[in-house]
Parts: sequence; structure tokens; C-alpha cells
Amino acid sequence: MLRTHTCGELRITDVGKEIVLCGWLQKSRDIGTIGFIDLRDRYGITQLSFDEHKNKDVFNQARILGREFVLQISGTVVERTAKNANMATGDIEIQVASVEILNESKTPPFTIEEDTDGGDELRMKFRYLDLRRANVRKNLELRHKVSKFTRQFLDAQNFIEVETPMLIKSTPEGARDFIVPSRLNEGEWYALPQSPQTFKQLLMVSGFDRYYQIVKCFRDEDLRADRQPEFTQIDCEMSFVEQEDILNTFEALIKSLFKEVKNITLDPLPRMSYDHAMKYYGCDKPDTRFDMPFVYLDDLAKGKGFELFDSSESIIAINAKGAANYTRKQLDELTAFVKKPQIGAKGLIYCRVADDGTFKSSVDKFYDQADLQKWADACGAQTNDLILVLCGELNQTRKQMSELRLELGKQLGLRNADTYKALWVIDFPLVEYDEANKRWHAMHHPFTSPKPEDLKYMSTEPQRIRANAYDMVINGVEVGGGSIRIHNKDLQKQMFTLLGFSDEQAQNQFGFLMNAFEYGAPPHGGIAFGFDRLCSLFGGSETIRDYIAFPKNNMGRDVMIDAPSAISDEQRLELGL
Ligand code: ASP
Repeated sequence: MLRTHTCGELRITDVGKEIVLCGWLQKSRDIGTIGFIDLRDRYGITQLSFDEHKNKDVFNQARILGREFVLQISGTVVERTAKNANMATGDIEIQVASVEILNESKTPPFTIEEDTDGGDELRMKFRYLDLRRANVRKNLELRHKVSKFTRQFLDAQNFIEVETPMLIKSTPEGARDFIVPSRLNEGEWYALPQSPQTFKQLLMVSGFDRYYQIVKCFRDEDLRADRQPEFTQIDCEMSFVEQEDILNTFEALIKSLFKEVKNITLDPLPRMSYDHAMKYYGCDKPDTRFDMPFVYLDDLAKGKGFELFDSSESIIAINAKGAANYTRKQLDELTAFVKKPQIGAKGLIYCRVADDGTFKSSVDKFYDQADLQKWADACGAQTNDLILVLCGELNQTRKQMSELRLELGKQLGLRNADTYKALWVIDFPLVEYDEANKRWHAMHHPFTSPKPEDLKYMSTEPQRIRANAYDMVINGVEVGGGSIRIHNKDLQKQMFTLLGFSDEQAQNQFGFLMNAFEYGAPPHGGIAFGFDRLCSLFGGSETIRDYIAFPKNNMGRDVMIDAPSAISDEQRLELGL
């Protein structure tokens, strides 16, 4: 080894030792005849000192060293006169006897410290330098920890990790595929997997029984802060199980991760049906750190001459507790918020419950105190509460109210990043109707099994069929989802027919799976967790990018290696493009 210790290791008990350290020069400064250097490596920072009176040559040499030079130094550990309680090594420094320059460095384009002066784009371009910063490095250390404990946990439960191929067949379901031309089969294309779904099911047919894989998946979708074209899943599948077994097994995994990684004991996960989530929270991933459920005022508010309500399919209220003191300006801002094109509400109606229990609403002309009292009773509103009401078409109003609920949760400080509330959302519909293309779509994916008791609706009212599908939601983020699968060829065929596949198309796209089902497929089911998302949740950040070593920007570009990029005419010719 070129070093005896790391830069995060030495303590007061090491005083007097002769040591050798290697690392990068983070910062240097002179105070008269003494020079100081902060030497950094992955493990921390150690202060080096150079005394002109004790060793003039080394002192002079140290003065010309630049930032990010790679150094090997030898010297003696001494106690510091001015200790730094904020540094693990802050009680000591190294009195340097010799310095070897292992490599020089150009002046870095931004300061490599926790508070850097580098903008996003610049740090992405020089990601290898950004990764030297302790806070960025810590995110990857957290990621490593999460993957290590995941493997440990699943291994102890008899799961085995199996790699599935990256070059597979393009299928029309789900998101858009990334495709790869085949040189040896000109005119034909591979696709990169959106998930190892069919392969993990085939592994169950093979009898592997419990499979997992921490695996890259690829989806060619429009990007958002929490999406990347390539991302990682903890992908799992089990045989001879029912929904309940999967929920229990993976609830235990997530609980143990919270314990190991954050030392947090997660409450048992409540289960909420999809219908309940939509009705009371307006979305299938409710943030349950705070309650504020929807209250339907249709019966109380219609028929009083207020045309807007009378002509609406649905009138939905929420009770913002303690927010009666919202000013006119704050209410105007909330109104502007719900009227944003992305949300699209026509307006916002409010009713304050004043100190003395009287009501002051924006619709006083139509509703007297007795009417508003009924609203308040329905909403459980008391003095100092603020009732907010939206109206319109049912599903749209639910969506809009869901956004408003989240916004209020934020404004009222109810969405604390250190509080974790997890739940299972279950009983999803099997299919949803796509108005634009006039066809049914699988809500999860086409391999998800219907609840046996709902099979009777298959040819008449498919929207009524509930699926054996489930999502795990934490703090309003869908961290994982899965289903019990179809393992019977005929049912799988029926499902493809419902989704508008001809027999020939189904055979062509998924024949391999349906054929496999003819050779003794066991009942099976599984789940996949968004690994990057889980890491960002543990780290308390909104963007998964911070937890990926070399992420893409929001145009899907890697600005460091400059990809995607053009290919040569030669390559194109060879690929027959
Ligand atoms: N393959 C599914 C997905 O990627 C998860 C699953 O059903 O296991 O969402």
C-alpha cells in the first residue's frame, strides 16, 4: 500500500505515530511561517502542517502545490493547538516530513467542497469531480448500503439472484422501448428490457421458486426530476404464494431496510383499496403523513341557487385545520395554484370558521350560517379551520383536489421529510379504458391476474374487474408495485383478447410465455421496487439523480461522455441502417 492510514482515520490516540497518507489537496493556506493543507480521500480530511522553521524545503514545496494535486505525505501525528470539533480528525494534524506528488491536477472547474460554486450542468460534465464531494459520495454510500442489506435480507429468505438478458424482444405494452439494431440479423432489432417481467415468470416455470435481481431497466419516456431513461429495480418473484404472502414478505424487507439504514421502526403498513384512495385522496399514491381526506358536499351544497355547484357533477371539500387565518393574498395564491393549466380548476371556494364559530365564505350570497354549519359538520371543521371546495367533473375534481391537498400539506408543514408513512394500495382495477385509442389497457401489465370472483365481468364490464395487484406507497411516492400473475394459458389468452390482441399477435409477441404455461407453471407473483427512488427517499431528496453515479440530464443526455451521439457512416453501413 502507498499509505499506512486513510485521511479519516487518525485520532488523538495516534499522536506520536509515523504515518503515510495519500489523498487530494482540498485547500491550502499559510499563516506566516506555518502552512496548512487539507488532504482529502474517500474517508475524510486530515490537516497537514508545514513549519518553515522545522523543515524549510518541505514548507517551500507545499506552497506551490495546487488544488486537487494527488499527494503522498509522510510525517508524525501531533495534537492540534486549535482543535476542530466538527471534524472526525479535528484533534490532530500531521507534521509533514516529506511530500511526494503522485499526480498534478489542473485547477478544477468548481470548488470540491460540500458547498460548491459549480452549477448543475458543470458538475454533470465533470461528474467524476463532483463525486469527490463528501455529500455526493455519501449518497452513493447510502445506495451501496441499501443494496447490501437488500441482498442480505433476500438471501436469508432463500431468494437467489439470477441475471436476465439485456437484449430482448420489443413488445408494444407499457412504455416505449429503447431499441438496438442487430448487425448479424440485418433489419431486425433487439429491445432493452423495461423490466425482466417475462423472464422472472419463466424462472418460476423453471422451478427457481424465489428469485430477485437488482437490475437495470430502460424506458424511453419523457423525463422528470424523478425519472431516468435507465434506472434500477429490486425485482422479485415467488412461487406458491398468494397476495398476502407477497405483501408480508416485502413489507418485512422494507421494514428491515428502514431499521438498518435509518434506524427507524416503520409502523405496520395499512392497506387501502384503490377505490378508497381515489375517493378520499384523489390519487392512487396518497401521502398519508397527514390526513385531510376529501368530503363530498353534493347533498349539502346543491340546490341553493349557486349555478356553479348546481351544474357540477361533484363538489369536494377539504378541511385545512388551523388555516382560517389565511390572508386574502394567500387565498388568491391558492386560487392561482389550482387554476394553473397543469391543474386546471375553474376556481376555489373557501369558508373560514372564525374564532367565535361564525362562518365567512366566498359564497355567502347563496349559503347562510346554517348551511355553512352543515358543511363544517361534514368536514369536521371547528374554529380556526379553513374549508376549501372545488367542483366539476368527478375524476378531474379529485385530481385537482389531490394537488391542492398536497400543496396545503406542504404549506402547513405536514410533509416532514424525516417522517415516513408507508402503506399498501390494493385492489387496483385490472384494466382501464383508453378513450383516445378506443381500447382497454392493462393497469399494471397484461400478466396480472384478475380476482377470481370478478372474472364474470370479463366480457361484459371489464372496468369492474379488480386485479390481484398492489403498490407500496411511502410519503406519496410509489416505491414498488407488483401482482399475482396469470399462470394459465387460456386465461392469459383471454386477457390478450380483452387488450385487443388478435390470437396471432398474442402468439407472436408472447407465445414463448404462453407456451411455457403449458409445461407446469406454478402459481406465482412478485413485485419490483424502484431502487433509485427508494435510495432518494432514504436520503430525504426528491430527485433520484442524486443517487445515481452517472445520471442523465433532463434531456436524457450524459453531458460528460456526450451521449447520445452520431455514429459513423461505416457503423451505419455495417448495421444496415
Ligand atoms: N415488472 C413490474 C414493473 O416493472 C413489476 C412486477 O409486476 O413485478 O412495474
